[in-house]
Amino acid sequence: MKLRKKSAANGTEKKHRKTVKTDKPNKKTKSSFIKKFALTLIACILVFVLAVGCALVGLVGGAVYAYIETAQPITDEQLIAKASSRTTLIYDSKGNIIQKLTGKDNMDCEPVTDKEVPQYLKDAIISIEDERFYQHPGVDIQGVINAGIGFVKSIITGSSEGTRGGSTITQQVVKNITGNTTRSIKRKVQEAYAAVLLEKKLEKWQILELYMNLGYWGNSCTGVQSASKKYFGKPVSELSLAQCALLAGITNNPGKYNPFTEKGRENAKNRQEIILRKMLELGKISEEEYEQAINEDLQFAPKSSSQQVGSVQSYFVDQVIVDVRNALMEEMNISATMANYMIYGGGLEIYTTMDPKIQADMDSVFMDDTYFPLVNETAKRQMEHPQAAMAIIDVHNGHVKALYGGYGKKEASNTLNRASSSLMKRQPGSTAKPIAVYGPAIDLKLATAATVVDDKAVYMLGDRNPERAYPTNYNNRYDGLTTIRNAIKNSVNVVAAVVWRDMLGADNSIEYLKKVGINREKEKYISLALGGWEQGINPLQLAAAYVPFANQGLYYEPTTFTIVKDSNGKVLLDRTNKKATIVYSEETAFIITELLQEVTKGKNSPYPYPGTAATNVNEKVIGMPVAAKTGTTQSNIDKWLVGYTPYYAAAVWYGYDNSGGEPIPVKTEEMYQAHKIWAAVMKKVHEDLPKKDFNPMPEDIVTKEICIYSGKIATDLCRHDQRGNATIKEYFIKGTEPRDDDICTVHIQARVCTESKDTMGRSLLAGPYCPEEKVETKVFIQRDPPYMPQKPNEKAPRDVVYELPAGEYCTVHGAPQTPEFTDPFDLPWSFGGNGGTSTDNGQGAGQQQELRDSSSLYEDVPGGSPAEGPRNNDGYDWPEHMPLE
Ligand SMILES: [Zn+2]
Ligand SMILES: [Zn+2]
Repeated sequence: MKLRKKSAANGTEKKHRKTVKTDKPNKKTKSSFIKKFALTLIACILVFVLAVGCALVGLVGGAVYAYIETAQPITDEQLIAKASSRTTLIYDSKGNIIQKLTGKDNMDCEPVTDKEVPQYLKDAIISIEDERFYQHPGVDIQGVINAGIGFVKSIITGSSEGTRGGSTITQQVVKNITGNTTRSIKRKVQEAYAAVLLEKKLEKWQILELYMNLGYWGNSCTGVQSASKKYFGKPVSELSLAQCALLAGITNNPGKYNPFTEKGRENAKNRQEIILRKMLELGKISEEEYEQAINEDLQFAPKSSSQQVGSVQSYFVDQVIVDVRNALMEEMNISATMANYMIYGGGLEIYTTMDPKIQADMDSVFMDDTYFPLVNETAKRQMEHPQAAMAIIDVHNGHVKALYGGYGKKEASNTLNRASSSLMKRQPGSTAKPIAVYGPAIDLKLATAATVVDDKAVYMLGDRNPERAYPTNYNNRYDGLTTIRNAIKNSVNVVAAVVWRDMLGADNSIEYLKKVGINREKEKYISLALGGWEQGINPLQLAAAYVPFANQGLYYEPTTFTIVKDSNGKVLLDRTNKKATIVYSEETAFIITELLQEVTKGKNSPYPYPGTAATNVNEKVIGMPVAAKTGTTQSNIDKWLVGYTPYYAAAVWYGYDNSGGEPIPVKTEEMYQAHKIWAAVMKKVHEDLPKKDFNPMPEDIVTKEICIYSGKIATDLCRHDQRGNATIKEYFIKGTEPRDDDICTVHIQARVCTESKDTMGRSLLAGPYCPEEKVETKVFIQRDPPYMPQKPNEKAPRDVVYELPAGEYCTVHGAPQTPEFTDPFDLPWSFGGNGGTSTDNGQGAGQQQELRDSSSLYEDVPGGSPAEGPRNNDGYDWPEHMPLE
């Protein structure tokens, strides 16, 4: 019909146009034309709108259908927690009950039954939230239309007064059960559908009961009962009409209607009056009741600090509750509130991984004041006590055996748990190197334990600060040619940074960290290699990341529980058959364990210093083979010790909370507290365990005798390094070892004259006039290319004193033999006795000056100053710096 009209109209139009073109239209024709044209236009628009409308309805209908198809109805399992108050039992790994949880003792959520709730409160809630609650099937069509009109009105008038979401009590219950609060049409549609289904499953009173128990009432109160007790100091059954109306209004916006603030109380009173009026309108209360309630003087209970009625939960129990809650939310698709009800009042049985003996060992150390010395004046000024935290994991399955989250006796439940809380985020310092650098590099065969890096000044800040050497080492020196083994033993930053940047690459590093549960995708900086992470870590995460080294490369996500059953004995959560993921090859795990054992070993030739953990953490102390890594962050803010035995991996953090003022650096006197706490706990833990070795050497490991300054096959010269025998047996993943003909080229032999020395005390090369009895043959090292400073006043690596004095000949015997010699490197600090001739005393003053300046470059090398004269390098004793790292 319409279509025909349209074509007819078109015809008229066409005809008319012709007329317009040829004749001047008279007035009458014109007005009729306009009328017809308008009609046609309206018809067109109508058709268009209809068509679009139909399409839209189709689209919306399709979408709604798709949404409903995928909507999840509320299941019986999800409803399991509704308003029960059965005691939940938590067991340790030996089957002892370690904690009983009953809702009202452990949290501010106390379920209430429909029968206990006064009619006034139910009426007040229904009047304000959902007045047609008893009539609608879960969704209130009239409410939705009203809400739509209200929305349009609010746009026109610009006021949001009186608008409502149109969400029924049933819909709100669905939201409170699933915890899904996404703001989307899809969610709204699915929620509405689930509400309709829920109405078929439950009676109205049951739905209202859920609403009253699952809603949030502010000030950490879940449900009306705990809110009633908190705000009025009595159970809901004793509330007056006025109090019921006030309480019913809070949950809409607990912040705005908070009765514990002046403004909130005022808002709440206003809303109470709106609710009372609505109740009167709906005939729920009489005029008389209304008047009385409006005028009632509301008496609120004083604000109490968190009510801790039950026993104090241990750090472990705190963590188990967090973990079980998260698992229930995820696996059962329920809200945190529902999960809390299940945990605190659902009569669950929670089987944890906590080992009572290990936990007791840990507790005793953390209660012992001697491990928390009060030596830090800055901390005293800032009223802070030293803190520490520790986590122990079974390396064979990822079970968390014990946790302790702070100094001394735990005074309350759910206090800051420094061992495993997600709020605890500290930089890991050098403990990051094995997991972010060396483990990945060896596993990808991009480096080996024998890979040598020149530990010298590097400038990795690039354009940001091209003049500043970065990173530097903790001991403020460079040691020169260094294997990865040695770099781990002595925690050398330069080597880690060079391996990370030039061999491994940021992407590989990030990939491997992800495999051990550490996501650092946004931290593609050199500091990732050194543990200066933007996003910190806690002891549990760190210990877990080391588990693969102890366990043939296998990672287990750490878990604090094995099984959770409901009150009928049905298993809700099961972690007993958790699959491990492969992070490293067995060979890599073996090699890293070998290297980390070095950290616990003392001074041993050819390494002139002990490992950074050796003094406190070693096999003798623990009574078990032990591998470990130390960590310190910028300015000594955090101290770490992470390590493992064939049984357990553990990590300790020591430092201050820095809750106010400047971060507090750990003082020298407390520098090793993390090491000491780790050792004290682990010694107790291993006391009664049978002695066991780390995993045996895998088949695909080969050993080679290598030179530690070249990383290549050792020669006889390597055994005669001036520092001692420089050869060791090193482990390689088959195929990464040096070929047998790939021999050391770093060590070189030369004839030197013992009479003529440079400022470093190095004997110079013998010339043809040196008497034979003054000439000896010595082994030197040579770099390729030779060391030369990149910046003025650069600190030289300490091993330059063993470098071949290439081109520098004896200046004592006979005429200068190399008159044309000029310093090949043009070194500003070049060794004494060169730069022309030493007999040319005319330059004396200037040269002295230059030498004095240069001596400062060697401040930590005894005898480096020319003032002390020549010295013998044989038997040179390295300074006994106790490494601070
Ligand atoms: Zn060598
Ligand atoms: Zn000589």
